[in-house]
Amino acid sequence: MWTDLPAPVTEALERLENGGYQGFLVGGCVRDLLRGVPPTDYDMTTSAKPREVMALFADKTVVETGIKHGTVTVFSHGMPLEITTFRTDGSYSDGRHPDGVTFASTIEEDLSRRDFTVNAMAWSPKTGLVDPFGGREDLKKGLIRCVGEPSCRFDEDALRILRGARFASVLGFALEENTQRAIHAQAPLLAKVSIERITTELVKLLCGTGAVEVLTAFRDLIAFLLPELPMETYDTRLQALASVPRKTDLRLAVLLSDLPSYEAGKLLRRLRMENKLILRVTALIREQSTLLTCTDTPDLLRLFRSFPPELAEELLILTEALHGTSMAQMRTRVEGLLASSPCLSVAQLAIGGKELMELGIPAGEQMGEALQMLLEGVTDGKWENSREALLAAAKSWHSVC
Ligand code: ATP
Ligand code: MG
Repeated sequence: MWTDLPAPVTEALERLENGGYQGFLVGGCVRDLLRGVPPTDYDMTTSAKPREVMALFADKTVVETGIKHGTVTVFSHGMPLEITTFRTDGSYSDGRHPDGVTFASTIEEDLSRRDFTVNAMAWSPKTGLVDPFGGREDLKKGLIRCVGEPSCRFDEDALRILRGARFASVLGFALEENTQRAIHAQAPLLAKVSIERITTELVKLLCGTGAVEVLTAFRDLIAFLLPELPMETYDTRLQALASVPRKTDLRLAVLLSDLPSYEAGKLLRRLRMENKLILRVTALIREQSTLLTCTDTPDLLRLFRSFPPELAEELLILTEALHGTSMAQMRTRVEGLLASSPCLSVAQLAIGGKELMELGIPAGEQMGEALQMLLEGVTDGKWENSREALLAAAKSWHSVC
């Protein structure tokens, strides 16, 4: 597990040691390596001060990502390595940001500021594993446990409350009893945390392997974070959540499916989600039952005139999950229909604005209406999507306008 680290990682650790400093892998990557899961990134911690790290890696691209907090990013063979000086976080008077960062002299001090025991381990080729809080044991047991006294750690930084639930969900772990109790008791402290940070953790939580268990056990936390959610139907929605893939748009659509789509949109905007994601989730919510009443091809074409065809599979999955009905036959029909490249937008019509202007239809609102009318006629099967048929339809429409 420690033998097949990427070359830039071992090189950087060696360089720190050769420079007379200590250098460790730390946090998530150590946890993941011990679990036998490839880490998403490799964070390091060192006794070298940020300026010393920069001097040591002067031949590489170095970015001062968080120099105030002791972090620089070294790009080695294209791989970003975050290297942070050993530090303690001092006191927290606002429940979110340390008042000041103090550099520490030992790895143990650095590990003691970290949130959970499984995240508070370090490893170096020279020292091996440093695990002062029993992280390895908790990893074996599948437990998320605060480093130190949970209520103090959550008072210091309320984001940890949600991170605890997030790690339990993502890793499929249980929460140690005191940590669990403190999450319930201190959830309202999350009011101090910025919405962006909450959203990042919440999305990871929703997409974790243990999401349903965590959302069930911490419904009070979710009700606090998302007061817009109707809680009477919460458990039914969680059952549906278990049966959809762990994708952000689908999971959000299930969780918010009892809200009108515009209310869901408002909530997602409050959470500062990306616009594209909001559009996908609200479209899924709006059409969550439409497929149940689609009996013929024009019905389906009408749906896909306003609903993005690339989300068809997700809509089928959502419909299945929320209504408990098999969509197998419908899936075959939808796939067949979309594979035949049907005309679903005015851009796909056999004629465009130029031809309509030649018929005397003025550009602007009336042109838009004409194109929409032609598209609806095609998808409803009133006429074909051919030049002749569309010109004839446009002429007769224009003559009665
Ligand atoms: P992931 O794989 O999801 O990135 P991670 O463990 O790397 O998980 P990060 O949010 O990237 O999580 O944080 C890196 C490390 O920094 C953590 O493992 C933990 O040791 C420490 N850490 C991060 N946020 C906090 C916090 N709010 N309080 C204390 N320690 C924290
Ligand atoms: Mg990380």
